[in-house]
Amino acid sequence: MTTADTTGCEIEIDGAWRPVSFAQAHARYPAAIKRCPVCHGRVAIHVNSTAQGGLWLQHRRAHDGCPLMPARFTGEVSPHPQALS
Ligand SMILES: [Zn+2]
Repeated sequence: MTTADTTGCEIEIDGAWRPVSFAQAHARYPAAIKRCPVCHGRVAIHVNSTAQGGLWLQHRRAHDGCPLMPARFTGEVSPHPQALS
């Protein structure tokens, strides 16, 4: 397993998944389908209105095998049950 990258997500561009930062994904690809770089589950990027314009990643469907969901993560990485490929 690769090390968790908590600063970005992946976007499908011309049939290939490419890593992009939250800021780039939010500003340049607002309508694109995005996935988590660790578990490959579908995610959405939200602007945190209470922080200083912080962006955060939310999995569309909760999953307990992803370190990017610390509230649910069991400690063991596993692929998302509805992973995008
Ligand atoms: Zn994930």
